[in-house]
Amino acid sequence: MDTVKLKSVKSGKLVIISGPSGAGKSTVLKHVLAECSRPLELSVSVTTRHPRPGETDRVDYRFVSKDDFARRRDNDEFLEWKEVFKRGDYYGTLRNEVAAGLAAGKWVVLEIDVEGAMMVLESHPDAITIFLHPGSDEELERRLRDRATETEDSIQRRLEVARREMACRNKYNHEVVNNTVDQAVEDICHILASGE
Ligand code: 5GP
Repeated sequence: MDTVKLKSVKSGKLVIISGPSGAGKSTVLKHVLAECSRPLELSVSVTTRHPRPGETDRVDYRFVSKDDFARRRDNDEFLEWKEVFKRGDYYGTLRNEVAAGLAAGKWVVLEIDVEGAMMVLESHPDAITIFLHPGSDEELERRLRDRATETEDSIQRRLEVARREMACRNKYNHEVVNNTVDQAVEDICHILASGE
């Protein structure tokens, strides 16, 4: 009989959060990361889009050039990647970052779009998936316009994508309506606390 004891390092868990742009995902997520009882670690995506006011490189995203993105893609550095708003803005999840977090026992959080989520689920079918949304298309549009950092053209594109994403919410294990930030944070922390 093999008497060698294996070191009991419990590997982590993957958590995928999606939801239409303007649903308040970033704000809710910031609180969840600070308040949840699980050892959460946000996977910082790579993007070619420009930083918005207040965003910090390596905290919100790794902001890179298109050449750099293409080089990383060709090196197979991405677990999944996508051109999200069909106008040349690329986003990708770093394979190494996710693997290192999971190996260290972290609950690695991906904040990615629906197609990216479906792609990741193929290799990580036991991920906890949460869809966060503002309740209705009208509320979504109101929030997107309130943010006022986008041009009308960009708002229209984001709205179209958002409506398509809303139609996919039943593909997720959990649906959370972001009526108030506090409530949404509590709901998500509860889901994570009861997750295996
Ligand atoms: P934003 O430009 O508003 O930060 O993000 C736009 C969309 O891109 C959001 O739906 C966000 O979830 C998604 N996104 C951010 N990072 C990634 C990523 O690495 N992969 C994919 N597929 N989508 C991402």
